[in-house]
Amino acid sequence: MSEDIFKKIVSHCKEYGFVFPSSEIYDGLGAVYDYGQMGVELKNNIKKYWWDSMVLLNENVVGIDSAIFMHPTIWKASGHVDAFNDPLIDNKDSKKRYRADVLIEEYLAKIDDKINKEVEKAAKRFGESFDEAMFRQTNQRVLDQQAKRDQVHTRFAEALNENNLDEIRQIIIDCEIVCPISGTRNWTDVRQFNLMFATEMGSTADGAMKVYLRPETAQGIFVNFLNVQKTGRMKVPFGIAQIGKAFRNEIVARQFIFRMREFEQMEMQFFVRPGEELQWFSKWKETRMKWHKALGFGDQKYRFHDHDKLAHYANAATDIEFEMPFGFKEVEGIHSRTDFDLSSHEKFSGKKIQYFDPELNKSYTPYVVETSIGVDRMFLTVMSAAYTEEQVEGSESRVVLKFPPALAPIKLAVLPLLKKDNLPEKAREIIDSLKFDFKCQYDEKDSIGKRYRRQDAIGTPYCVTVDHQTLQDNTVTIRYRDTMEQERVAIDKLSDIISDKVSLKTLLKKLN
Ligand code: ATP
Repeated sequence: MSEDIFKKIVSHCKEYGFVFPSSEIYDGLGAVYDYGQMGVELKNNIKKYWWDSMVLLNENVVGIDSAIFMHPTIWKASGHVDAFNDPLIDNKDSKKRYRADVLIEEYLAKIDDKINKEVEKAAKRFGESFDEAMFRQTNQRVLDQQAKRDQVHTRFAEALNENNLDEIRQIIIDCEIVCPISGTRNWTDVRQFNLMFATEMGSTADGAMKVYLRPETAQGIFVNFLNVQKTGRMKVPFGIAQIGKAFRNEIVARQFIFRMREFEQMEMQFFVRPGEELQWFSKWKETRMKWHKALGFGDQKYRFHDHDKLAHYANAATDIEFEMPFGFKEVEGIHSRTDFDLSSHEKFSGKKIQYFDPELNKSYTPYVVETSIGVDRMFLTVMSAAYTEEQVEGSESRVVLKFPPALAPIKLAVLPLLKKDNLPEKAREIIDSLKFDFKCQYDEKDSIGKRYRRQDAIGTPYCVTVDHQTLQDNTVTIRYRDTMEQERVAIDKLSDIISDKVSLKTLLKKLN
């Protein structure tokens, strides 16, 4: 896939009511987007898939919905006031601003690409006898590239860990990284930039309080740990899940809904006994990867990426990356956060935040394993995986969104062949009997062929056509989105045919 496909996905999202730029009639607002009539359905289905996989499938995971505004000291305790920064750098010629760490990561990714191309070329040349491991160990060009990569990577990881901004700049200079816009290497110094949005609560007369828009939903879970544990009589290990908005004043926001300033997260904090966190970390890594792969987009499109720099609170961290049209990118983070958050809130609030473990007969501060996924990035994952251009019937082509049926915004379109002879009424009758279970859409405009294309473009898995025969024998033609095959079925069989395929239950059962 390429940047070109990405552009097509962005315009498809707009044209078919999935995603609109925010405030569009005022020329938009940077990195803020609105979800349209189709987008909101897809988004809700994604959220439900996640929510149910957490709170339905796990007896020991419960949900909450905490407020966006929180006491400002929470962000002192969490470390966000002091450390939620990105290193930024400007190009003096183009006046464009970049994340310095991202420039270096992209440089490393380019070296990886070069190595992979060498390997692919050789694989083609040698055919079946190709031994990839041996080739990587012996080919001089690969070895040179790998050595260069390792050297830059080590320097980069050290600079990040030591927070050494001068060294990060020096790496950019030494690697001769240029600004993609101006093509020059005329860089400013690297500076830290805090990503939290602040506003004021209360009138200025009473001395307004500076509050932040939360940059993650996790802290709402930590500060409610005792409330939930006590009122829910929860026993460690247990988890608290939450879906909600988060806000970050991102420096570079040029990748559609991949990086937004207002976005939504689905986070689950799992509280465990100290010392057991790494076992749980592996367990949740596996569980979350299974959740992604169950969607059937192809296992090769996912990979884990372990962190070079652990956040101040973590003792293990990995990302689940998905192959977006612009390369493998983080969709979800899984972190072993130790007891950092609960201990810190204990210290800052002066309230004891501990758990009495009846089996061990002692109190302790639980350790935490977090799974954190962006709804919008997941939306982009689903869109990128589903978007397909196909050649059909000779020179004709179609764009079809091959959503897993459980996530599709519309499950069934009901199309009267003609706008007369009682066919519309019959079509409405079918919708009226099915609408309690499935989101249906009625469409009577244009030829059937055009109507099929419109449904393909929004990913509707089933179309049903009502014709004159329907009035006589109560059968309809059902057409399947992916194969475009059609068959004649009885109206009273429709529900059975569709139910299983579009139900979240079928997807959730794969996770058990
Ligand atoms: P990145 O390195 O891409 O900035 P991050 O590591 O800061 O992301 P986390 O703090 O781990 O991200 O947040 C968890 C998840 O929230 C991410 O995996 C991503 O799916 C989502 N997310 C984070 N920032 C954004 C954003 N600006 N826009 C959309 N989704 C986001």
